[in-house]
This record gives sequence, structure tokens and C-alpha cells, in this order.
Amino acid sequence: MTVLERHPVTQRTVLVINSGSSSIKYQLVDPDSGASLASGLVERIGEETGAITHKHGEERTEITEPIPDHGYGLSEVLRLFEQQGPSLADAHIVAVGHRVVQGGRYFSGPALIDDEVVARIEQLVPLGPLHNPAHLKGIEVGRRLLSDVPHVAVFDTAFFQNLPEEAARYALDREVADTYSIRRYGAHGTSHQFVSGAVSELLGRDDLKQVVLHLGNGASASAVVAGRAVDTSMGLTPLEGLVMGGRTGDIDPAAVFHLARVAGMSIDEIDHLFNRGSGMKGLAGDNDMREVWKRIGAGEQEAREAMDIYLHRLVKYVGAYTAVMAGLDALTFTAGIGENDANLRRELGERLAYMGVEIDPELNAVRSDEPRVISTPDSKVTVLVVPTNEELAIARQSLTLI
Ligand code: ADP
Repeated sequence: MTVLERHPVTQRTVLVINSGSSSIKYQLVDPDSGASLASGLVERIGEETGAITHKHGEERTEITEPIPDHGYGLSEVLRLFEQQGPSLADAHIVAVGHRVVQGGRYFSGPALIDDEVVARIEQLVPLGPLHNPAHLKGIEVGRRLLSDVPHVAVFDTAFFQNLPEEAARYALDREVADTYSIRRYGAHGTSHQFVSGAVSELLGRDDLKQVVLHLGNGASASAVVAGRAVDTSMGLTPLEGLVMGGRTGDIDPAAVFHLARVAGMSIDEIDHLFNRGSGMKGLAGDNDMREVWKRIGAGEQEAREAMDIYLHRLVKYVGAYTAVMAGLDALTFTAGIGENDANLRRELGERLAYMGVEIDPELNAVRSDEPRVISTPDSKVTVLVVPTNEELAIARQSLTLI
């Protein structure tokens, strides 16, 4: 059965674009069924040889060629859609949704992109220096090459835009903080919103006190009460909070002064060390949890210790957020580690047994793409695994504006 037969005339689709500094990730999504009709990745833009991988059903097309800029990359993607399918002309694209990491204080929801929105995203470059310039490139070429559909920006920070002030404001001199826009913006908001919404739906309750653990290479926790985020672990940037693949998460900022003064490191070197050379990579030599478990299995003490540090940080956040919310109904795991790492879920469950968390070993061992409960009926907190789907969330949020 062809895609078009499965999705007859009533079908509408959203093209979701996540533009990075040297890459463009894309997915054609049916926002109604949730199906992904095609997806792909343009890599190594601006390097000597670039690559494009386009997936349509079971078919996978790979191209290796120089991709000088984002405009050329996206025009190649549009060509692949026409050559390999699905034809965009037949797919009834109703919007293009762009992922944008930093929305600052301007955006508490998705925004229909016009020149003013572009200018705002540009103004936010100092707060998102790695991401926003890359998103702007994607938006610019997207609007140029797909000019007859509305383009929507969906911000990673939007779900946390209305955090209570007591959670969002650092105890930093008010004038300095406000002059330089230093506050907790959070990140992964699209995922936390999607996952916490799915939990409410699955449990049939909209009054839940939830903790969501988004554990991927980047990792963040959020506290959500009745659908509203009340705290989150990432801050001014995605560096704060949990132990991550390559990031320290929480660390005394005085470590920066110390490294600058005593080790003579530059700000850029410390930035790199904290954002890329730390976390599981810095502690255990590898940022992939599967490797860390292998090393633990081989009896490597440093790997075990790294896992304990990772778990200790999670225990602290779950405890703190339970206190902030004065209770906890649902604890949910998502993203690469959260969805796949049953060992980690089991060990965290054991450390949270004091609060009545009881994970069912058989349910925990199930591998599935479906949202599911993994706690026992007696568990005081319902524990779930909910696969995140940021592309679908972006597609659905885009639709709310058109
Ligand atoms: P991101 O989007 O932040 O790059 P993902 O959410 O895709 O990250 O998560 C990637 C991480 O998921 C990998 O680095 C790895 O640590 C972890 N991961 C993936 N599969 C497994 C697995 N089967 N067991 C444990 N960890 C896994």
C-alpha cells in the first residue's frame, strides 16, 4: 500500500525542520495520525564532503556530496522528496515547523514566523549563541524555498516561560540579572510538555503532580503541576542540572574562577570542558550509557562511580521537586536513556523506594514504542515510560496557529 493510499485526500502534513550549525534534521509528519511519512538528515554542511540521508518507508537514500550551505542542503532535500517520495506536491503540507532552542522572554508558545519574529530570534542570539543563528539559517532558506505555506517557530523554552518567579530567578543581583537577561529559561520544553501531556491522557487525570526525566545525551528534569511547569533543571543554558553525556550539570560556579586563576584556562576552554568534556564522558570516558554499563560489567570502578554520581543527582532532583510540589503522583522516563535503559530505571527505582516507588521488573523489561506504566499497582507513585516525539509535538503546535 502506498503512502497516498494510506493517507487519502483528507491528509495534511507538516514539515518539521531542526536546523543546526552544520546540519538540518527534517521530518514530514501527519499531525492527525502522528505518523512520520519521511525523515532525514543533512550533515557536514560547509565541509569538504557533506552527506544526506533520506528515509521514506523502508527506503533509505544516501548521498555524499559537498553541501556548501543550508540553502543548497534544503534544495537537495526537496529534490529527494520529489525523486524518492513522498511527493511534497501531493502531501498537502499545511505548515513548516521550525525548532528554535532559545525563545527568551518573548515566546510562551509557538509563533507564526514573520520578519518581526525573525528579528526577535536574532535578538536572542546572545542567549543562544550556538543554536539561534543556525535556526535562523533554516528559517531563511525554508521561507525562501517553501514560500507558499506558513512557517511556525516552536521554542524549546516556551513551556518554561511561565515558571513561577521563585523558580526562574537566580539569587543574583537584580539589576545585573535583568540587564543581562540572566534567568532560568529551561530547555527540552517541547518534550516535557508533550510527555507530561501524554501522562495526563494515559492516566485520565489533569490534576497530576509530575516529574518528567528527559534523559538523552542532554538531560533535564521538570516538575509539572496540573499541566503547568513549576520548575526545571536546565537554566540560563542547558548546562545546569542533571549529569549529562558531556555536560557537568550543577557545579559550583567558583570552579570557573578557580580554573581561570589556578589552571590559567580561558573562558572558552572552560566552556568546552563543562559542556563537552565532562558528565559521563569526563567521569567514565564515554557519553553513551550502553558503553558505561559494559564497563561496569567488566568491573571498572570509575564507570560504577560515574553511574552512582548520575543516579545521585537524579535522586536529589526527584526529591527536591517532590518537596516543591508537596507530593508526586507520576514519575516519567523519556528520551534515549529514559526510554531504553531498564537498568538505570531499576536502580533509580530502588533508590526512591523510601517514597513508595515500586517498579515492576517485568513491565520495566518490556521494550516498546508505546507510552506505558512500569510501576506495580501498589506503588505510591505511578512510574511510566513515555517515548518523546518532539517532531510530532512541533507539528501539532504549528497547526494551532494556522
Ligand atoms: P539527544 O537527542 O540528546 O542526542 P537521545 O535522546 O537520542 O539524545 O539519547 C541518546 C543517548 O541514549 C545515547 O547517548 C545513549 O546514552 C542512550 N541510549 C540509547 N539507547 C540506549 C540503550 N539501549 N540503553 C542505554 N542507553 C541508551
